[in-house]
Amino acid sequence: MKQADPNTVHLLSPRESPARLSLVIPMYNEEAMIAPLREAVNSFARALPGEVELILVNDGSSDQTLALLAEWAATDARVRVLHLSRNFGHQIAATAGLDHATGDAVVLLDADLQDPLSVIHQMIDRYCDGYDVVYGQRESRAGESAYKRFTAWMFYRIMRTLVYRQLPPDVGDFRLISRACLDAVIQMRETHRFLRGMVAWVGFPQIAVPYHRQARVAGSTKYPLRKMLAFSWVAATSFSTLPLRLSVIMGAIVGIIGVEEGIRAILAHFLGWYTVPGWTSLTVMVSLIGSAMLMSIGILGQYVAKLYEQSKGRPLYIVARTFGAGSKIPSQAERSDAAAHSK
Ligand code: UDP
Ligand code: MG
Repeated sequence: MKQADPNTVHLLSPRESPARLSLVIPMYNEEAMIAPLREAVNSFARALPGEVELILVNDGSSDQTLALLAEWAATDARVRVLHLSRNFGHQIAATAGLDHATGDAVVLLDADLQDPLSVIHQMIDRYCDGYDVVYGQRESRAGESAYKRFTAWMFYRIMRTLVYRQLPPDVGDFRLISRACLDAVIQMRETHRFLRGMVAWVGFPQIAVPYHRQARVAGSTKYPLRKMLAFSWVAATSFSTLPLRLSVIMGAIVGIIGVEEGIRAILAHFLGWYTVPGWTSLTVMVSLIGSAMLMSIGILGQYVAKLYEQSKGRPLYIVARTFGAGSKIPSQAERSDAAAHSK
């Protein structure tokens, strides 16, 4: 994939702060966070010159999240709730929210207030300077285990050196996106999504604001190791074909060893170096070649599986119901409309 050139020169044109700012918040089993979030959003919105729209996506929660969100939407006209038909995962839930946001600028954030709302004011300042993407760059992470910090650190380093050079380090999905940039991101309907990479790929003037990541206010992380690994694999394979190239390199290395062994065997035969049947070396070679082939086929298979998933052309998510801001249950026609749009 052609990577966005970070050296592209853009002319920044200063602009007004967004007349409407959309906050997109995906939620999965966040019942404990609704009350603190509500309070934080209210005080944040008071300090904002423009209007605020809240797009709250319930990603198939199994707790009281939906009931609490519906109640919030009933008492607050700024709130729109998208209730997905099941758990689709954070990246897809975020996509659903971004698709439905109507603001001039959109901020994507987590429900757990790890990304402080106060940072959004700095993001808006940069937006007014003319930047289209303002991402929050973590200077520190409070309340996360050394293990989580280490795996996150490794993740960004590996992604940047091996997979996608333009990926800013220590940057999550917490970011402000202008309407122009969002419209471009919305056009990318890939099934396997790595949003922060997709936003980097789109280009536009982008800049970081540093912030200190807070500890989760309530509830627990929804990203256990298993999901983190799956996410890393999606990130690596949806942004580069490097794993495929690695399997070629692995094949080449095994091939060189094979040629070396072959030459040695021929020389040994003609020069009469030794007459051992060579069972050990044979076993080693067969295992090496077998493992290299299986791994290569496996990696290739992962890409074929991705093609297969994408070729089905299914909608990325299904909105079962919406609440708030004059919403109704989407009709069948609207649903297939949304499905067509998702392709
Ligand atoms: N989330 C989601 N669907 C999922 C998992 C997580 O919508 O399947 C939401 C979650 O509710 C939160 C955000 O994604 O608002 C980030 O998750 P979390 O805080 O658990 O991740 P961490 O900060 O630990 O990486
Ligand atoms: Mg979190």
